[in-house]
Amino acid sequence: MSDLLRVEGLRLGYGRADVVHAIDLTVARGSIVSLIGSNGAGKTTILRALSGLMKPRAGAIRFLDGTPADIAGEAAHRIARRGIVQVPEGRQVFANLTVAENLRLGAYHAPGPEVARRQEAVVARFPRLGERLGQQAGYLSGGEQQMLAMGRALMAEPVLLLLDEPSMGLAPLIVEEIFSIIADLRREGRTILLVEQNASAALGVADTAYVLETGRIRLQGPAAEIARNPEVTAAYLGL
Ligand code: ATP
Repeated sequence: MSDLLRVEGLRLGYGRADVVHAIDLTVARGSIVSLIGSNGAGKTTILRALSGLMKPRAGAIRFLDGTPADIAGEAAHRIARRGIVQVPEGRQVFANLTVAENLRLGAYHAPGPEVARRQEAVVARFPRLGERLGQQAGYLSGGEQQMLAMGRALMAEPVLLLLDEPSMGLAPLIVEEIFSIIADLRREGRTILLVEQNASAALGVADTAYVLETGRIRLQGPAAEIARNPEVTAAYLGL
């Protein structure tokens, strides 16, 4: 598999503190890469840099779709136009807008008939959203809001989908449902970088995994191997 994203020596911080220390990370096209690690390890900060919400202090973010480019420090709207789309932690759907309006925001630059076609595809994947298209998003359950946030991202037809803690605050059955959809997306050829505290769900679905500890990559490798690593089972899998 060829690489879609290559992060080299990425250093990130807030104020005077560095919180991510020169990490390297590669995402192969058509794969799921999971980035796991405890609270405050720097996972969300890395996603913020990848989607242009934060300027790196050093390093390169090479996006290899079409003409390869170092997108480190590029504006968020330009990165989104390249096809890197993030589903943020805590979903962040627009509570006062309807489900349909939230979905359409994901494809705001696409022509009308194309928006309708994409919405149909999203509704086919998430039938529960189809039943609630006219309902205000704020009234959806947590699991439905996660589906809406993912549906909104899929409306942009992402080349690289960034998922931040999709399991957060959801009941185990819903987590299972969400992760089975993530696995479907990969089977259909999507490339996904998944940030999770739920290591067992994340490792179950991923091809490759990175374990981040206080801003440094502690372990990396095939997800199945990482899941068997005694350090990981003790620290993250509660076994
Ligand atoms: P979580 O699962 O809790 O979101 P995380 O691995 O995503 O954890 P980050 O949110 O990236 O971790 O945070 C990494 C470090 O950066 C933490 O020490 C955090 O306190 C700090 N941090 C995060 N956001 C800010 C901010 N806006 N200003 C200052 N420090 C921040």
